[in-house]
Amino acid sequence: MRVMSEVAPLDNARLTRDEAAIRAELIDITNYEIELDLSNALELDEPTYPVTTTINFTAATSGAETFLNYLGSSVESVVLNGRALDVAEVVGTARIALPDLATTNQVVIRSHSAYSHSGEGLHRFRDPVDGQVYLYSQFEPADARRVYPNMEQPDLKAEFRISMIGPDTWTLASNGIETGRQSLDHGIVRVEFAPTKPISTYLTTFLAGPYAIFEDAWSGHGPTGAESIDLRIFARQSLVDHVDAAPLFELTKQGLTWFHDQFQVAYPWGKYDQAFVPEYNLGAMENPGLVTFNETYIFTSRATISQHMQRATTLMHEMSHMWFGNLVTMKWWDDLWLKESFADFYGTKAVAEATELPGAWQSFAHQRKAWAYRQDSYPTTHPIVADIVDLEAASQNFDGITYAKGAAVIKQLFHYVGEEAFVQACQTYFNQYAYGTAQLADFLTIMEKTSGLAMREWAAAWLQTSGPTTLRASIDEAGAVTVTQHATDPITDEEVLRPHALCVAVFLLNDDDQLVSTAEADVVLSADQASAKVADLQVPTDMTRAVIVNQHDQTYAQVELDAATLAAVTTYPIMDPDSTSVATVWSTLWTMVRQASLPAADFIGAVTNLSPSIEDVSMHARVLDQAVEALKEYAPTGQRTRLTKQLAAALLDALVVLEPGSDRQRSAARAFARLGQGTESVAAELTFLLAGDETSALSPGLEIDDELKWLLLTSLASLGRIDVERLQRELAASHTATNELRYRTALAALPDRARQAQLWQEVFDGTDSAGNALSNAALTATATGLKASDNLDSTDRLQVLLEGLTMIWNSRSNNLATRTINGLFPIRHTPVKGGPQAQDRHPVVTTIDTWLTQHQDAPAALRRIVIERRADILDRLIAQAAGRK
Ligand SMILES: [Zn+2]
Repeated sequence: MRVMSEVAPLDNARLTRDEAAIRAELIDITNYEIELDLSNALELDEPTYPVTTTINFTAATSGAETFLNYLGSSVESVVLNGRALDVAEVVGTARIALPDLATTNQVVIRSHSAYSHSGEGLHRFRDPVDGQVYLYSQFEPADARRVYPNMEQPDLKAEFRISMIGPDTWTLASNGIETGRQSLDHGIVRVEFAPTKPISTYLTTFLAGPYAIFEDAWSGHGPTGAESIDLRIFARQSLVDHVDAAPLFELTKQGLTWFHDQFQVAYPWGKYDQAFVPEYNLGAMENPGLVTFNETYIFTSRATISQHMQRATTLMHEMSHMWFGNLVTMKWWDDLWLKESFADFYGTKAVAEATELPGAWQSFAHQRKAWAYRQDSYPTTHPIVADIVDLEAASQNFDGITYAKGAAVIKQLFHYVGEEAFVQACQTYFNQYAYGTAQLADFLTIMEKTSGLAMREWAAAWLQTSGPTTLRASIDEAGAVTVTQHATDPITDEEVLRPHALCVAVFLLNDDDQLVSTAEADVVLSADQASAKVADLQVPTDMTRAVIVNQHDQTYAQVELDAATLAAVTTYPIMDPDSTSVATVWSTLWTMVRQASLPAADFIGAVTNLSPSIEDVSMHARVLDQAVEALKEYAPTGQRTRLTKQLAAALLDALVVLEPGSDRQRSAARAFARLGQGTESVAAELTFLLAGDETSALSPGLEIDDELKWLLLTSLASLGRIDVERLQRELAASHTATNELRYRTALAALPDRARQAQLWQEVFDGTDSAGNALSNAALTATATGLKASDNLDSTDRLQVLLEGLTMIWNSRSNNLATRTINGLFPIRHTPVKGGPQAQDRHPVVTTIDTWLTQHQDAPAALRRIVIERRADILDRLIAQAAGRK
């Protein structure tokens, strides 16, 4: 095992916060000049490309020394202030030493960097459809150093002068507009881009390949003096027919106008390009002037309105970063939340207010916040303002706390201080810190001024503690309601009271047996108040009723339902036009399943009974998927046959009852296909659906597009009902990049032990049978298929995986290692005897505990993954044990 002390200083990739602070004290960067030569990119056996980097910078003291970060392949020369340094002496595998600085310095580095297959750095992808090659970069938090030598820390902002060399038929793009183009020999061109305004290294970007281009323009914004902006969309040639450029441009324009109205600061980055790129590790990245998106947002199968809404939310999230994050940047990764929480909040708000798409806040309440509640319940949870000691910790912190909990808390802040103070604080923040960096304290100072409220107390309670609050409504004999809050910080073990501004609603049963809201009232709990009586709210005590705490989802808290409310909401549908109360209820029920306080069977019963009444497409889809998950992972084995029958019947019924060809019908079909993985009893129905008879009375109007087809094929493969030849035929019929991944998944699901063992080993090794490195997407596709049939002995595999963890972590990038470990970690196990309290003695759990005990020195980021998977396993064991009757 490799530990820090054994790493030579120049081989140390873990830049620490302290090192960054020292470097920022010493250095000021004037500009970077970077030239990437991608003229060999088409030669796939060429692993590297030449890079020339010039950095002009000043040092506070002459004679001082500093270093660059660089994870390149080779360095040919380092010339500092005209003097060639000894490469053998100053270059390591992760750093380049710069000794004996003057006060004004220039360093020129000639080097080669590696084409990436992990989605980090400069990723190279070959399209299986037409053989074309596409490249794009992804740098956050610290992968710019995979492409060019730099000082990889967000507070050393600089101007970037970028140029790229590549085939003259290609699209070459970066943050700035193209300002020059020069033809070189052999069909190669050199393109120069306008110098950027001051930005951080993680925000620089490179795009190259024969991308198709769509063009439009936004007309500008009078009040802020924002001029018109050129808009472009890039996508692979083989996706051109699927690119719905008009609605994407429309969303972009709606967003630009809305954000200008909101922030009153003109868009600072000149143009607005949006590129949809293959094998992307995340949803999107906010590079100034050139946002990159996961190309699954170009819909090649029929997308539901909920998928459109989610895409729009991502688009708006990135757009809000043009101000939050790009214009004003966090000083270090501790304050990552300052941009991500705001972007998540504002991304949702912009969709709700600037577009026609429905369900943004509902999805936020039900989906985004579920991620937060889950993450906040892990032993690894942390305060929103995290303690990020080095870059490795930073890369593990793009999590449910930083994004979703942070955004939920920002939403609460918005209601707590009021819209006017909130918006004014944002505007001041942008004006005061434009092109610079800021920290939590800077933000709080401004918010305190605009709101007149004590923000440091607010921040202490919300941002510097961990774990969710639980809110409960108690109703006395007279029908008066009291809201009580309870929270223990899992890190400090101390009680935490938080200020909450929220709303409580009463729902009563109408003549149609539906729960309708009859009264609601606001209540504020201050930071020192454990409970508060809700004035002006009276609950009838002799009727079927539900009391919903956190109606409108204004605060971040888990809700504990009183017995009468639980009985009502699992029996009767809630009719609520804004449906955030429906979201709150379903989110609560799902949390209860996870925490073993609601049997999976009861949840599935509620879903089969009530899901047809859930109008919101996204919530409907999610609840169905949760029912499948509850069945496969949280229900005791002995109940699964019965529950499968019940859920299958409900889903098949939904195909008939819901409007033919509707989004909700499609969601039911997808859920049924997932239910079919390893479920022999529904094989006939899977085969019937795959045949795709739209005129059938059993699935009227249901089109079997590629997505649904491959879901069904994977399920049938997991049952051994179809063979390799069939899968190959289906792939040959429509051989796209996406279908190739789906084929991988289906192939891995086939219950052929020898093949599955081999594929398992390929994921474990990170290479295919020919020894080629598996890309990020291929790796995950295979691992997903292996889990679909659960055919391998998971206990043996777990042992092998645990023994290999350190090797995997040290031999792969953070992202690839995380994908490998999560992909192979077996989550489903059968409980041991002795009830819920005996499950922490389950052999699988104790095996993991042994690893944790023996690997105290393993990187914190690796331990974090193992601890979270242990929690996932234990939750499922406890729920199954508790659900046995
Ligand atoms: Zn973001």
